Amino acid sequence: MLYIKCPYCGIRAQTEFAYGGDATVKRPELNKEITDKEWDEFVYLRKSLRGKHLEFWHHISGCRQWFKVQRDTTTHEIFKTLKPHEEL
Ligand SMILES: [Zn+2]
Repeated sequence: MLYIKCPYCGIRAQTEFAYGGDATVKRPELNKEITDKEWDEFVYLRKSLRGKHLEFWHHISGCRQWFKVQRDTTTHEIFKTLKPHEEL
């Protein structure tokens, strides 16, 4: 079983969490004109990276907070967890 350290609650079983996607994708600036293609890329296109990656996770059966997890997608080793506003 995979264990994840929620930055708010501590270490819990992975079954309490839901994967939330790539945490490196930046939303386009508000009120900035962008093309339909740029919006499509922001909404739909994601890389399927192998190795160390930064992801969003949701503690859905706990505190219900979102946070970031730096994880290796091949070994599932977790290196660090951060609150959403924190940077590596
Ligand atoms: Zn939590």
